[in-house]
Amino acid sequence: MPNLAVTGASGQLGRLVVQDLLARGVPASDVIAVVRSRDNVAALADRGVRVREADYSSPPTLAAAFDGVDRLLLISSSETGQRVVHHTNVIQAAEAAGVSRILYTSILKADTSTNPLAGEHRDTELALAATSVPFTLLRNSWYTENYTNQIGRYVDSGEILAAAGNGRISAATRRDFAGAAAAALMEDEAGQRIYELGGPAFDLFELAQTITEVTGTTVTYRDLSVESYVSSLRGFGLADETADFVAAIDASIAHGDLETTRRDLTELLGRPATTLTEVVRSAQG
Ligand code: NDP
Repeated sequence: MPNLAVTGASGQLGRLVVQDLLARGVPASDVIAVVRSRDNVAALADRGVRVREADYSSPPTLAAAFDGVDRLLLISSSETGQRVVHHTNVIQAAEAAGVSRILYTSILKADTSTNPLAGEHRDTELALAATSVPFTLLRNSWYTENYTNQIGRYVDSGEILAAAGNGRISAATRRDFAGAAAAALMEDEAGQRIYELGGPAFDLFELAQTITEVTGTTVTYRDLSVESYVSSLRGFGLADETADFVAAIDASIAHGDLETTRRDLTELLGRPATTLTEVVRSAQG
């Protein structure tokens, strides 16, 4: 079996990818968890996963971590603003180490998306295209948890406040995106591959309705204009720049940038993606 390395393996998504690889029968000795600190993945090491320490901002550590790696899953850095530097360091180190395929967790419709986060993903995709290494783009929509983590707040206030209009969001759970990434990492493919990954789409009216049905507490979606939403966010204490950023994300959702009708997620998973109702139910404990 090829050696499969996963960066960000200490994070929420990366940890699930490694667990999924093991569940799919990949021997732990063929899996390399690339992390900043091995202390954060002791449970994976206990299962026999090889652990290597590296930092996206330190090319020498990346070069050492990728020695002997066949396929590499680059999980996008969580440091917005630093991502292009981080990812370019990883890509160049992987190419120099002779990695045969790089898989990258990008954003849905990265090439056309107006989402303010898309630029760094687009630049990373261009950095991949500039190498000689075959690559797979796992263009992920939103994590459903971005919303379900806030159910308590929605229920307490009785409303979801946003500016996403009727924009539909093909969100999926981290677990489902991780399963898809693991499946893609195991595939023996040639050339370039682009997956547009998303689950069953919903808009925020449907999210409010689903939370209402599952919790028994009425939650409504109050759809604001982008300008009003920015004012509200500033009123809640957000810095001007952050408020503009959050509202611009909603404007891109209204534009349809996080919706896909493609079935790539289901096909990679080999099963239907988790439904919104299931996620809301499990978020209730
Ligand atoms: P987490 O924040 O849980 O994990 C981020 C991972 O990136 C951690 O393992 C962290 O390591 C690692 N990391 C950060 N900076 C560095 C660095 N300089 N060098 C090496 N590793 C680094 O995020 P998730 O797992 O939930 O999501 C994965 C990625 O997906 C995020 O990083 C982000 O790019 C993107 N994302 C996507 C969302 C979506 O809705 N589609 C929502 C949120 C994020 P350490 O444990 O050492 O901190």
